[in-house]
Amino acid sequence: MAKVKIASTWLECCSGCHMSLLDLDEKLVELLSKIEFDASPITDIKEFHPVDVGIVEGSVGNEEQLEVLKKIRENSKILIALGDCACFGGIPAMRNFFKKEDVLKRVYIETESTVNPKKTIPHVDVPELFPAVKPIDQFVKVDVYIPGCPPDPRAIEYALKELLEGRIPVIPTELLSYE
Ligand code: SF4
Repeated sequence: MAKVKIASTWLECCSGCHMSLLDLDEKLVELLSKIEFDASPITDIKEFHPVDVGIVEGSVGNEEQLEVLKKIRENSKILIALGDCACFGGIPAMRNFFKKEDVLKRVYIETESTVNPKKTIPHVDVPELFPAVKPIDQFVKVDVYIPGCPPDPRAIEYALKELLEGRIPVIPTELLSYE
């Protein structure tokens, strides 16, 4: 039987959700007899091909992230929002309390570690920042939500096993994680 093809990517995030995926440890090795990763930040393959399941970590805060999100959606039969950032906006959405101009000023000019005597804010070859960070379902259809910050590895395992059985997973409450 052909393996289920998976692609994963990350947008505005801390990479913690993919670390949870790796935290499946030997269970991930077991799953690899039934699934294969076609693209992933872990393998550093950024091209998307048609896959059965797309997994997205992180929210959308700029035009490049939106482009990546649309590409993985177009290529995925089922799309999973992995973690609170993808599901709800999460930590990155804390910048929504501030004006975009103030965020750029803080990041490029004011931070204690910044050396920028000309006080320039780059705008060439830098993705346009959106005024607000939003969860991915504000832009594309999401089929499965795995909340948590980071999600419990057992929730990821549960979801993948349900998908392998042909069911759309609904994560049990006891597997929701907010550590
Ligand atoms: S949900 Fe939490 S762990 Fe996952 S990317 Fe967002 S901040 Fe990081």
